Amino acid sequence: MKVSQFFDNTLLNKYNTSGPRYTSYPTALEFHDDFTHDDFINAIENSQNRELSLYVHIPFCHTLCYYCGCNKVITRHRDKADTYLEYLAQEIALQAPLFKDYTVKQLHWGGGTPSFLTHSQITKLVSLLKEKFNFSDNVEMSIEIDPREIEMGLAEHLYSLGFNRLSLGVQDLDLKVQQAINRVQSTEFIGDFIAHAKAVGFKSINIDLIYGLPHQTLDNFTKTLVKAHEWDVERISLFSYAHLPSRFAAQRKLRDEWLPNVEEKFALMKLAIETLCDLGYDFIGMDHFAKPNDELAIAQNNGSLHRNFQGYTTGGDCDLLGLGVSSISSIGNSFSQNIKDLKEYYQAITEKQHALIKGVSLSKDDILRGEVIQELMCNLYLDKHMINEKYRINFDEYFAEDLPLLTSFIDDGLLENNENYIKVAQKARLLIRIICMSFDAYMKKHINQQRFSRVI
Ligand code: SF4
Repeated sequence: MKVSQFFDNTLLNKYNTSGPRYTSYPTALEFHDDFTHDDFINAIENSQNRELSLYVHIPFCHTLCYYCGCNKVITRHRDKADTYLEYLAQEIALQAPLFKDYTVKQLHWGGGTPSFLTHSQITKLVSLLKEKFNFSDNVEMSIEIDPREIEMGLAEHLYSLGFNRLSLGVQDLDLKVQQAINRVQSTEFIGDFIAHAKAVGFKSINIDLIYGLPHQTLDNFTKTLVKAHEWDVERISLFSYAHLPSRFAAQRKLRDEWLPNVEEKFALMKLAIETLCDLGYDFIGMDHFAKPNDELAIAQNNGSLHRNFQGYTTGGDCDLLGLGVSSISSIGNSFSQNIKDLKEYYQAITEKQHALIKGVSLSKDDILRGEVIQELMCNLYLDKHMINEKYRINFDEYFAEDLPLLTSFIDDGLLENNENYIKVAQKARLLIRIICMSFDAYMKKHINQQRFSRVI
């Protein structure tokens, strides 16, 4: 892969503005509380899909990472998880009958920190899910792990329950960076755990890294990247640290002067992409890396890559049911979300027998624009004839008001637009979310608000 093709400093600087990550269209900002539980049930009944992806949110973490923007509860009391699992069990018992004719193809536990749970809590939750839902024999089961508070034996335990993918939050291996973000962890232990998990049988291990953190330098971040390669993980997710202290109180602990400036952050991103590609990973979408024989790389090559709330994925064809506090569902032509506050979640499960708080029923226009954005985000290419046939429209007429927004990208050589297709140049890959904003009908009302993170 020729890495230089992804960079044009002048253009990246010109378009380095804020924009949605388009893990859904419309984005979660458009969810509203007029969407009711009856709408959710209608969405299930009207969905053509009978394959399901389950997402389970475990909100607890032992300590607060100062960069964090997730929905989490910091506690050292493991018994809090017992209470949570009781309510989660009620939610599962209430939701599962609605999905009795679905087959679960994927299960993902995210957080917070799913590995906050004890072995017996994990066993209990897996057993309950398998008892209440119909799991496919070849279900893909993945879990996010915080390597700070676990023991080696967790790998065997998860594998014995059917988990086949692990994702470890690593972020950065330099001690000074780790101290600044309040996330000190042992490099040696992470390496040993990964080797052990592979020996146990895990065939797919992902690690998360972040660039743009305090005190990161080209030198110390290179060491992190090289170590990740030594660990021989199948996938690496590389995220840009989004410093939004007005929205996330913990980020106020990160002093501005500790953070790399825009040029330094750009250099860190460039370093990461160049290093990981040199080390043999394929660059997937705008923030993932995978070995060339990994399913994600294969999906990108054959045009079947998808994007959902967890980022780039191979399994975009399932309906998604989110379970637990703050989780998001995507069922048929709808998105919906559970309550974000833990106490209110408990109260809602008890009083209303569900925790849905908001959502959106997709209009025909939402579905069409969502597909256009998905195609561009995943394939950097849009076949207008395919869209015309599928939606019975004339693309150029339908998007007559949106297409002029592409003019400056075309003038800068970032994309090609003709009567047959829209093709995004490789040097615009990092700017793809900014290009997709041209097709976002809701963008006008957000344009002057700091609601989204910057591209770099
Ligand atoms: S980054 Fe992860 S482990 Fe750290 S506080 Fe946030 S959710 Fe918890």
